[in-house]
Amino acid sequence: AIPLSARVQRIKPSPSMMARMRAQQLKAQGRDIIDLTTGEPDFDTPAHIQAAATAAMAAGQTRYAPVNGTPRLRKAISAKFARENGVTYAIDEITVGSGAKQVIFNALAATLNEGDEVIVPAPYWVSYPDMVLACDGKPVIVPCGENTGFKLTAEALEHAITPRTRWLILNTPSNPTGAFYDAAEMAALTDVLLRHPHVALMTDDIYEQIRFDGGAPVCPVAIAPALRERTLLVNGVSKTYAMTGFRIGYGAGPKPLLAAMNVIQSQTTSAAAAMSMAAAAAALEGDQSFVGTARAAYKARRDRAVELLNAIDGISCATPDGAFYIYPSCAGLIGRRRPDGSLLETDLDVAMYFLEDAGVAVLDGSAYGLSPYLRLSIATSLDALEDAGARLKRACEALH
Ligand code: PLP
Repeated sequence: AIPLSARVQRIKPSPSMMARMRAQQLKAQGRDIIDLTTGEPDFDTPAHIQAAATAAMAAGQTRYAPVNGTPRLRKAISAKFARENGVTYAIDEITVGSGAKQVIFNALAATLNEGDEVIVPAPYWVSYPDMVLACDGKPVIVPCGENTGFKLTAEALEHAITPRTRWLILNTPSNPTGAFYDAAEMAALTDVLLRHPHVALMTDDIYEQIRFDGGAPVCPVAIAPALRERTLLVNGVSKTYAMTGFRIGYGAGPKPLLAAMNVIQSQTTSAAAAMSMAAAAAALEGDQSFVGTARAAYKARRDRAVELLNAIDGISCATPDGAFYIYPSCAGLIGRRRPDGSLLETDLDVAMYFLEDAGVAVLDGSAYGLSPYLRLSIATSLDALEDAGARLKRACEALH
């Protein structure tokens, strides 16, 4: 056998991708499964965006593109930052990668040395700790419980910073909890960072447009302009415009950091796909009505899903502020027994029971760094949520 690297043995496959595969395998075997694991919009990419990709191909945009993204797309991103986030980034302060995921990876690969620490508030998006590990860093997980709305406090941040800290990664609204940092909460965190000049800030704002109070995004650079030189703003078109398969994400930050990220990219993927970049530019430049329509649909689903879950004895959840996930506590189910007599000891046991017994695929909170919780995606129809709610209620009533 070909020996594997220490690097790959430090990390694990994305649990959400694995759970989705497991649900799809069961479906393929003919089982009736409601899949609430998916992390992508269930809507089709808007027609004008699809048309832009097709037109780009017909116009010959089928070749290698510039490493840091096409000028047109970076211009559209620059305009988006000014319009939606109240910050000014020139097109040479922006880089485009194959998804926000790659932009985050490039940034970590370009900055971390062995043992460098990255503060990751939990619950976290599953990829942050593993990406840090893959880049030889050390994830410093800071548990953020329901008592603080699953949010990092200034005190907890201050406490987590050491001389080895290189980054704080903030994701708002958050996957998996939907928690959103308002301007005062963000200012409390940026105040701490201003006192620690060796710590850089990476924000993952991929769910920024999926916020249910209708408020504008909160950008740390607008709140604390002095942090601009050590902040990387990461965003993308996947969730906002239902474009996950196009693989376009972007970052805005200081030029020396971007130059290093572009070196990594030039030696890995070379550049994002040209026709995808044309589609992303069309998304950012064009009619934005899809964004509001999708947001309204997610909100209706969120309201109903929270109601259905809270009606189940043993499950309780707060109402998320944004993104398209619910993160209910299943503490009330731990210690109960399945009809076959086996004990539910962990949230993974609960998730497996729901899959096997109720045919509802959800993710366990342990994958996101905070137990005992479950993550349910509401990027699915109201009918499916209704059906899932009924099945989960029945499955929970069958416990003893
Ligand atoms: N960041 C968060 C918090 C996510 O949930 C996801 C996707 O699930 C991503 C980044 C990846 O986005 P992209 O499709 O742009 O790589």
